[in-house]
This record gives sequence, C-alpha cells and structure tokens, in this order.
Amino acid sequence: MVSGRPTCQFVRELPVGPAIDDPARRARRARLAEGQFDVLVIGGGITGAGVALDAAARGLTVALVEQDDFAAGTSSRSTKLVHGGLRYLPLGDLRQVREDLAERAWLLRNVPYLVRPLPFVLPLYRRARRPLGIDLPPILGAATPLGVSAGLWAYDMLGGRRSGGPHRALAPDAARMLVPSIRLDGLRRAYLYHDAAADDARLVMAVVRTARSRGAVVLNYARAVELVRGGGRVAGARVIDGPSGEAVTITARTTVNAAGVWAGDVAALAGPPRFHLRRAKGVHLVVRADRLLAGRAALVLPETDDGRIAFVVPWEGAALLGTTDTEWTGRPDAAAADASDVSYLLDHAARFLAVPVRRDDVVSAFAGLRPLIASTDDRATSGLSRRHEIFSGPPGFVSIVGGKLTTYRRMAEDAVNHILGRRDGTPSPTRGLSLDGTAGFMSALPALRARALRAGLSRGTLRHLLRAYGARTARVLDLIGERPGLGSPIADNHPDVAAEVVLAAREDMAVSVEDVLLRRTRLGHVVPDQCGTAAPAVAALMAAELGWSCEITAAQVEAYRRAAARLALPVRRP
Ligand code: FAD
Repeated sequence: MVSGRPTCQFVRELPVGPAIDDPARRARRARLAEGQFDVLVIGGGITGAGVALDAAARGLTVALVEQDDFAAGTSSRSTKLVHGGLRYLPLGDLRQVREDLAERAWLLRNVPYLVRPLPFVLPLYRRARRPLGIDLPPILGAATPLGVSAGLWAYDMLGGRRSGGPHRALAPDAARMLVPSIRLDGLRRAYLYHDAAADDARLVMAVVRTARSRGAVVLNYARAVELVRGGGRVAGARVIDGPSGEAVTITARTTVNAAGVWAGDVAALAGPPRFHLRRAKGVHLVVRADRLLAGRAALVLPETDDGRIAFVVPWEGAALLGTTDTEWTGRPDAAAADASDVSYLLDHAARFLAVPVRRDDVVSAFAGLRPLIASTDDRATSGLSRRHEIFSGPPGFVSIVGGKLTTYRRMAEDAVNHILGRRDGTPSPTRGLSLDGTAGFMSALPALRARALRAGLSRGTLRHLLRAYGARTARVLDLIGERPGLGSPIADNHPDVAAEVVLAAREDMAVSVEDVLLRRTRLGHVVPDQCGTAAPAVAALMAAELGWSCEITAAQVEAYRRAAARLALPVRRP
C-alpha cells in the first residue's frame, strides 16, 4: 500500500471542499472568459460530456462547466451496464431497444478497452410469479420458458452480429460454473445471453478527454448560477469557480442544459421550465466478491416485488448488487441508501442465491438519481420512459433530459442536430470517432506488456491498467519509469497503482482526494477502510502535483473521510 504523510509539523482542519487553485485551472478560466463560444454546456455527466464532444467534433467552439467533479452526479452511480434493456422488451418498444443496442455495438467498437462484452445468466424458477416483470396468468406459466426464449432471440436479432454470440439454454452445472452463487433449488431453466458493461465514471472521463483533444474548454467545480442575456436571447452563463471563488462570464450562441436531475433548476434560470422531471433513486450495494462467490458472469435476479429485475454484476474485483427504484423528492445531493433499500436488496438477493449475502459482506453502498421525464398520469417511477427529450427555449437555450448512459452518443447527436436546425437526423462525425485511449491500442499491446513486465508490475495491475486507460497505459508506465515507487499499489491486493494518482492530478483534472479515490479510481467504493488509511499518502502525491500547502493537504484528507462516510451502510434500526 502507498504510505507517507505530508511533511508538516503542524496541520489543522480547514472547512474546505477542494479549496485549491492551480495555474492550469487559472488558464482554463481565462480561456472561458475570452471570446464567444458556439456552445456552452452546463453539466459534466455523460450527457453534457457527450454533447461537448459531438459539438467539438463538428468543428464548433465549445465550453463545458460542471459544478462538482465530472461524473459526480448520476453518471458515476449507475449499474454500469451498456445494454438495450431486456426489461423493456416485454413493453414492446422494439425500436428503442434496437437503437440502444446499436449504441452498445458502437461503444464496443469505439472504446473496446473500456466497454467489454459481459455474459449474463438469467434463471427461471418454478413458481415464478412475474419473471422479467411480466404478469402471467397461471395458465400460461408453463409457457414461460418459451416466451423468455423468444424474447432473448429477439434481443439477439436486434443486437446484430456484435452481440457476443446468441443466447443459449444452460444446464444447472454450467450456470453454476458462470455464477457459483446461483440458487439451483427450484431452478426450471437458465439462459446465457450477452450484453456489455463499462465503468461509468471512466467512460465520462474518456469522453471529456476526447472533447478536450478536439478543442473543448472544460472546467469542473464551476457552477452556472445565472444566465446572461443579449439580443433577446440567452447568450451564455455566469459561472462561479468553486476553488478560487472567482466569477466568470462565458458567452455562447447556444447554452445547453445537460444538468441531469438538476436540469429543472438550471432551466428555471431561464424562466418557467418547459418540462417536469421526476427523480427515481437507485441504490447499489458493493459486496465482497469472495463472500458472494461472484463469478465472471452477471446474474439477473429475474423478478422483484415491484415488478422489475435486478442484477449482480462483477465490478472492480467486487460485485454490485442493485438496484432499487423509488421516488426521491428531497435535495438531489442528499440522496443516500437507507435501511429499507439495504433490506430490499439483501432480501431479493437471498431468493436467488445459494449463499445468502449478509450485511457484513457489504463493503459500501451508493445511491444515484434517474432523471425521468414525468408523464401525465401518476405512475410509479419504474414505469416511466427512459427515453431522452430535447426542449427548446427561450431562444439560445436548449435542455436535454432523460436517456441512459448507453445512449449518450445518440443523445448528443440529436441535441447538436437540434441546435444546428438539422431535423433530418444528420449523422454526426462521432459515428466514426474512437474515444481517447482507443487509437493504436491493439498494436501497442505487446510493447505495453513488455514495459509493464520490466517495471515489475503484476499481471493483475497490467490488466487493470489496460482496461482503465487503453493505449494511455503508456502514460502510467512513463510515470513509473521516472519514479519506480509510483508502481506501488494504492491498496493491498488491489491493482490500482500510485502513478494513477499523479496522472489524475496532472492530466485528468482531479482536484481532490475524493476525485481520485471515488471516480478516477473506484477504490473508495471497493476497499473503503484501506482508502481511509491511504488517503494521506494519496493527498501527499496530489500536493506535490498541485502545489497544496500542508493545511490544504490535511484538510483534503478530512474532506475525503467525510465523503467516504456517506458510502457506509446506514445504521441498522434496533
Ligand atoms: P448527471 O450524471 O447527473 O450529470 C449532470 C451534471 O450536471 C451533474 O454532474 C451536476 O453536478 C451538473 N450540474 C447540475 N447543475 C449544474 C450547474 N448549475 N452548473 C454546472 N453543473 C451543474 N444507464 C445505462 O445505460 N446503464 C445502466 O446500467 C444504468 N444504470 C443506472 C442505475 C441507476 C441507479 C441510475 C440512477 C441510473 C442508471 N442509468 C443507467 C442511467 C444513467 O446513469 C443516467 O441516464 C446518466 O448517468 C445521466 O447522466 P446525465 O449527464 O444526464 O446526469
């Protein structure tokens, strides 16, 4: 594990967030303040990052501001699936599923190191009441496997050739080989099908980096607080930079509201919002993979009491168990897992696993909010559409809301076509654009492997680096070449290395220990205790990069520990 402390004699706690400023941020603020942009994007989740990239790829000048860290909102809190959504098949929306699967194919092709095929095991049990959320009259129960098989066949067809192979029925032993924890008792039939998965926060960063490489000027910890007007239209926004407290006015021909569950608040800056959003909370538990006997495939929990499905998904050497779907009416930043979310997930998992997941097996929990466009009736949030919509107005102002991680590129294409007045669905250049880390990846593999071996890195670390950075693994190896100590793991028995901390601060705009441990790496979710211990060493590495004082370094460690405490399981009620 990395170790080391700030070399200060005296440290005191400061009431800070990131509380730092550095020359690179100052330069970015100066660029944002000068000249006029074609497009200003408010929101640095997957939607805003996608719009910034699409616009930049079409040669427009682009600015993007994010009030927190990139992906700090919903876009680091998803189930991390890149999918068409098997659950939406029974609803009959085949066009949507086909479009989503086309985006899955695009992602597998254009960012192959990060988005990878994932096998799924779907079990069907005797006495199932609502498999895949379909209410079946008992008389048709005998035909369930036939119906599910037909649904999976349609999913294969809609997904095209790159779907990872057609689905097939699995013998119980084969199902157990893929998911050792699956309950075999009462199992009627199991199926294997393929979808894909990607780390959401890393995907956002890959899109942000690609947008920057195309000239977009981006700034995290910069909040749009007011829209500016000129010539009878919205002409940009006034932004407060958190670390410095400086106000920057950014002028732009079109301002895009991509603020996710905050989109209603941002739209209200322009007048009465033209849409109504509902927020649906989704909780995930991060479970120790060894306790869960998680395998290399994901497991579908085929029915929940509220008519949905849930998943156990391998993630970062642990397993994600999720998710829930309940209406959230509080402040977006206050959403957290509560005791009923934890019991809901553990109880449902217990029905389909041979090994019960205990509270002690859960290392952390996180909650995300889905931005859903309200319908005219008052149906449950789980029944609301996951489609995206674009709302125009007042002049110079466009909002894009809804959608999925999987469909971000398509959403961005639609939004930029809308801005440019191209209602004919003009294809965006992003259709042929690989994301950062992809170009040269396959041809660089042998050299990267040889360099990692010479640097004494384990196979696990090399595999992790290739999956997280693609061709950019070379940058991590450069840093280790300069300072071999940077090849040390951040946490014991986990592959992430200290060089990633330096890279995050130097090139990926991380400005807090939280940015590094929760989003540039995901260690804070997976080994929270070790990260509490490693935080001073991580802060010391960042301090050297960003010129932090001892006070700021110490305050950063405290700020991280406070942020990490929000991921702890809620205290159980007596
Ligand atoms: P966000 O990521 O929330 O980004 C909006 C950003 O705007 C935020 O970072 C916020 O800080 C910023 N912002 C707000 N106000 C301002 C302001 N005034 N100034 C500057 N910035 C501002 N999709 C899938 O495809 N696959 C899945 O497996 C999947 N699982 C999911 C599971 C859960 C539990 C949830 C909740 C969602 C899931 N989704 C999934 C959906 C997907 O995660 C979301 O659709 C997507 O992340 C939304 O991205 P966004 O950029 O619109 O919102």
